[in-house]
Amino acid sequence: MVKNFQAITNAKIVTPNGIVAGTIFFTDQKITEIKEGTKNVPNAYDANGKYVLPGLIEMHGHFREPGLEHKEDIPHGTRAALAGGFTTVFDMPNVIPPTTTVKLLHEQIDRYKHKSLCDFAINFGSSVNDISELEKVDPAEITGVKVFTAGHQTTPTTVPKLSDQAKIWEIAARRGFPVLVHAENQDLVTAREKEFQDAGRTDMLAYSEARNELVVEMSAWESVVLAKYYGTKLWILHASTRGEFDAIAYARTQGLQAGGEVTGYQLFFNSDDYKKLGTLLKVSPALRSPKLNHELWQMMRAGMIDGICSEHTPHTIEEKNQDVWKAVSGTPGVQETIAAFLTGWIGNFGEESLEEGLQRLANCGSTNIATFFDFPQKTGIKVGNDADFVILDTKGEWQVKKEDLFTKLGWSAYEGMKLRGRPVATFLRGELKYEDGKILNEQKGMWLKK
Ligand SMILES: [Zn+2]
Repeated sequence: MVKNFQAITNAKIVTPNGIVAGTIFFTDQKITEIKEGTKNVPNAYDANGKYVLPGLIEMHGHFREPGLEHKEDIPHGTRAALAGGFTTVFDMPNVIPPTTTVKLLHEQIDRYKHKSLCDFAINFGSSVNDISELEKVDPAEITGVKVFTAGHQTTPTTVPKLSDQAKIWEIAARRGFPVLVHAENQDLVTAREKEFQDAGRTDMLAYSEARNELVVEMSAWESVVLAKYYGTKLWILHASTRGEFDAIAYARTQGLQAGGEVTGYQLFFNSDDYKKLGTLLKVSPALRSPKLNHELWQMMRAGMIDGICSEHTPHTIEEKNQDVWKAVSGTPGVQETIAAFLTGWIGNFGEESLEEGLQRLANCGSTNIATFFDFPQKTGIKVGNDADFVILDTKGEWQVKKEDLFTKLGWSAYEGMKLRGRPVATFLRGELKYEDGKILNEQKGMWLKK
């Protein structure tokens, strides 16, 4: 039986404003007090001196239902999320049929209510044929609208034309919801991929060179110019270059609300890793060179990056193990991202920077995302917020094994690697949901309506 805890004690608590050694108290799913010290606390979970972070938000979850259940489903995906320290997930709309109408949105909300172990919200989708749905959708029922500016092999809903993008940006601005943009320029992608294919290149580096910085930076600036013109709130998904964050910074100088995320895999891996992992690391936008990857870490440390997510994108191993141009894009990772981030952080900045890395992770993985998307109850470990926590083992090493994984297909680019910072316990609104490799109950999460 799971005990009803009312506190986590003997903890190093990562709040938005610093780390407190002591106890977090919670009642009725909410945080009631954060106090230094650990004396005689009744009904307390003993963190044994470990760090406690807010439960993170996977704002970029491809959980594949409906229509793609051969890759993943909501129960498996959200179990993996809890085991990975993510207590809230935002669903991505490139399912079959894609979530591009109000009717399908309501079906998706209902599906998650019955199947998601995490709290959840839905990223509404867009397609050229369904732009008028954006006039009907209730902004309180969505995080915003996701726009693919360039073809993602898993979706039919690409909006490559600037004139169509302009319509979406205008409606989003007028109706008050953000645009979440997958920013790659389709014209450049098409021409550059053809160029490399015609040259007979079949190596993964050719993929990164084809979908290079020009491709993403061009689209990011186009998105920012549209946002500036219409006054749209803009979030750039899986950004991977300095140029994209420069575009976001410029948007802010124009008084816009703008932000961007990086994925755990863009930080942890670079194009050198293709040698060993090949198409398992085919992702879009593509992995960057070691030099650009280093720059991304420097930007993370400097506070130039707003969000971090996993972009959990499962495919079957057969779909991945094809030639470079046919293999599908994306890699799973919601369970590994926290550990991958901390391992990479320590590798780049040293053991003595661990607490700085934890603080950055808490702010980028929870506070900043919840603030931008207007979910005040999820903005980190603060009195009044939801009691969502993850406790991390920052000392021991986790050698990632297939049998540890909760995803449906159970493969991972991280398999066999030794990572630091594995989650050992996850609480959702005060309830212990995951501990030491086990999901403790299958009770469903709540829909986050604004
Ligand atoms: Zn995605």
